[in-house]
Amino acid sequence: METTERQHYWLPVPSRTGFQWHRHAFRGKHWDGRSADTSVCGKPCAMAKPSELDWFQAPTCPDCTELLITEQSGTGSAEQPDTGSAEQPDTGSAEGER
Ligand SMILES: [Zn+2]
Repeated sequence: METTERQHYWLPVPSRTGFQWHRHAFRGKHWDGRSADTSVCGKPCAMAKPSELDWFQAPTCPDCTELLITEQSGTGSAEQPDTGSAEQPDTGSAEGER
């Protein structure tokens, strides 16, 4: 029942190196053709008209996703520190076959 004032749209943008593309979220209804903007996750991005391939290949920015989800849920749950992201390498893949 709430009016969704916070609109956003997704757009694949190249990183500064130009090698990696990511699909970031931006504020607004749709891309109005501007050449640069700051994404939801706070990165200044150079924008260009993406091709279908860009859409297909660019992975969605996890930071933007998280921020948008947090906003949508609106519960104001404290942002969780990224402490537990230390994935443990498979040290003991010991296949104890005997
Ligand atoms: Zn992003």
